[in-house]
Amino acid sequence: MIKLQAISKYYGPVAAIKDINLHIQKGEFAFLVGPSGAGKSTIMRLLYREELPTTGNVYVGRIDVSRIRKSEIPHLRRRMGIVFQDFKLLSKQSCFDNVAYVIRALGMSPSEVEKRVLMALKVVGLLDKRKSTPEELSGGEQQRVGIARAIVNGPPLLIADEPTGNLDPETSSDIMTLLDQINQRGITVLVSTHDKIIVNQMRKRVIYLDGGKIVSDMYDGTYDFE
Ligand code: ADP
Repeated sequence: MIKLQAISKYYGPVAAIKDINLHIQKGEFAFLVGPSGAGKSTIMRLLYREELPTTGNVYVGRIDVSRIRKSEIPHLRRRMGIVFQDFKLLSKQSCFDNVAYVIRALGMSPSEVEKRVLMALKVVGLLDKRKSTPEELSGGEQQRVGIARAIVNGPPLLIADEPTGNLDPETSSDIMTLLDQINQRGITVLVSTHDKIIVNQMRKRVIYLDGGKIVSDMYDGTYDFE
């Protein structure tokens, strides 16, 4: 589902990523962990083509992300749901509209939009809040809306960059449980985080990054470094 081949990314003279190879299979749940500045966000941004690698190839499914034209980026992003630390919701719009926005833009019929949005809000446990705006919700609920938006189009891959960075420990744990449930529906999930407690609770694949390099990669792993 994800393949990074000999990826390096330089910002001027600074190497954010140094010659990384990584393969994540369809259906996996993997954590990308490591200290601040390790290169986690850079990898995420390479996957959704917010950045281009300096060298190497990035594949998402069969898409060669580093080679596609700009006009093909929307097609790539329809193949993946993206969850952000700061949620990136439209604060004045209802939860329903926040989730519907993506698929309305695809020209789907109103009845199909409604069906899919209600299903996505049901998965994240927020059907009863569909008319509320993000401003009326807790941080954890806002992140659930972000997750509903990410899955509404039925993507095969979900990537989440520090999804619990703004949440308290208990809420963070609930959000990870939700991501795990989404993975059990067959969606490949990649989560970047520096939250050791959560990673150690979940016992998933743990890819540890430091200084732009993969230092360890363990299945049923823990996060004990630093
Ligand atoms: P993490 O997500 O693990 O905290 P990042 O991927 O954000 O790490 O950053 C990795 C390295 O690349 C850091 O040294 C950071 O300062 C540098 N970096 C990231 N983005 C940029 C940028 N847009 N311009 C210059 N340097 C950057």
